Amino acid sequence: DASEDAGVVRALDAATVDRIAAGEVVERPASVVKELVENSLDADADEVRVSVAGDGTDEIVVRDDGVGMRARDLEVAVEQHTTSKLRDAEDLESGIGTLGFRGEALHTIGAVSKTTITTTPRAGERRGAELTIEGGAVGEVEPAGRPPGTTVAVRDLFYNTPARREFLKTPATEFARVNRIVSRYALANPGVAVRLTHDDRETFSTPGRGDVLEAILAVYGRDVAEAMVRVDATPETDAVDRITGYVSHPETTRSTREYLATFVNGRYVSDRALREPVIEAYGGQLASDRFPFVVLDVTLDPSRVDANVHPRKTEVRFDDESAVRDAIETAVRDALLDEGIVRSRAPRG
Ligand code: ADP
Ligand code: MG
Repeated sequence: DASEDAGVVRALDAATVDRIAAGEVVERPASVVKELVENSLDADADEVRVSVAGDGTDEIVVRDDGVGMRARDLEVAVEQHTTSKLRDAEDLESGIGTLGFRGEALHTIGAVSKTTITTTPRAGERRGAELTIEGGAVGEVEPAGRPPGTTVAVRDLFYNTPARREFLKTPATEFARVNRIVSRYALANPGVAVRLTHDDRETFSTPGRGDVLEAILAVYGRDVAEAMVRVDATPETDAVDRITGYVSHPETTRSTREYLATFVNGRYVSDRALREPVIEAYGGQLASDRFPFVVLDVTLDPSRVDANVHPRKTEVRFDDESAVRDAIETAVRDALLDEGIVRSRAPRG
């Protein structure tokens, strides 16, 4: 009788806890893509290929030529809170050089999909291994043949969390989110050849030769690439080491902030402290509600920025935010001044 059960407090089983937690890390297909691409970049890949079928719940495959994993590391990697990137709290304090560090992505993705990981280590004995996780149930590690690197294939995403699936938008909208995320990583990592395909059609493919403008050309096309102005500054403040990248001519804009991509030490960061000084630097040259194309990386001492403030890791906290803002505004304004786009340094204050 169900009424006898009412009000009884009991612990949830581990699988249910995982499924609930998964909803927070893995909200939609684009979140899976983000985690997998970050792992490939952290694995020092020269080439990352992302392919998505339909809205992404059918299949997402991310393939890289990175360091790979040994069979026994593969088994550990899919457990909760396991990472090769962070050892202790001291590492967390000194600043994190990798994109991931929480050690929860593979475990979480495996809880809400049918995921197969195939990997071969780059170093040592190059013996490949494969592991499948289905709804959190981890299978046996099997031998597998592949060149060094890792392939993660995520199928039937959210098959066991129908509420998540319901909440997804059309395939076009979900893929647009994937595209936005992969584009950002491609722009932030011009030395990595990044290729994105949707239903077997190539969306873009960057050459990976280290040139940001080449990456901009691949991702945004020729009109945008030709409108870009180079930024390269070494500010005098201790708060920032270097500011590099490109900003568009004020006539080449869009009506959303989506193309205003700012990075801190190569990590995508969406923060007003980075966006606002860029806009300020145009000194009124932008039409209202228009936003430039921006690919700007701020390099600074990792111990001067806290990247661990937001669970989705796109916001940061700077030790000296106002010095960072000033440095960005000056760097972008100087670049625009050189091109004769803005005429003089706007008075401060
Ligand atoms: P995190 O990235 O926070 O460490 P993940 O769950 O995303 O946590 O990954 C767990 C571990 O699996 C990583 O620390 C890494 O050692 C290994 N790993 C995941 N993806 C890859 C990959 N593409 N190439 C090599 N190793 C990987
Ligand atoms: Mg990760």
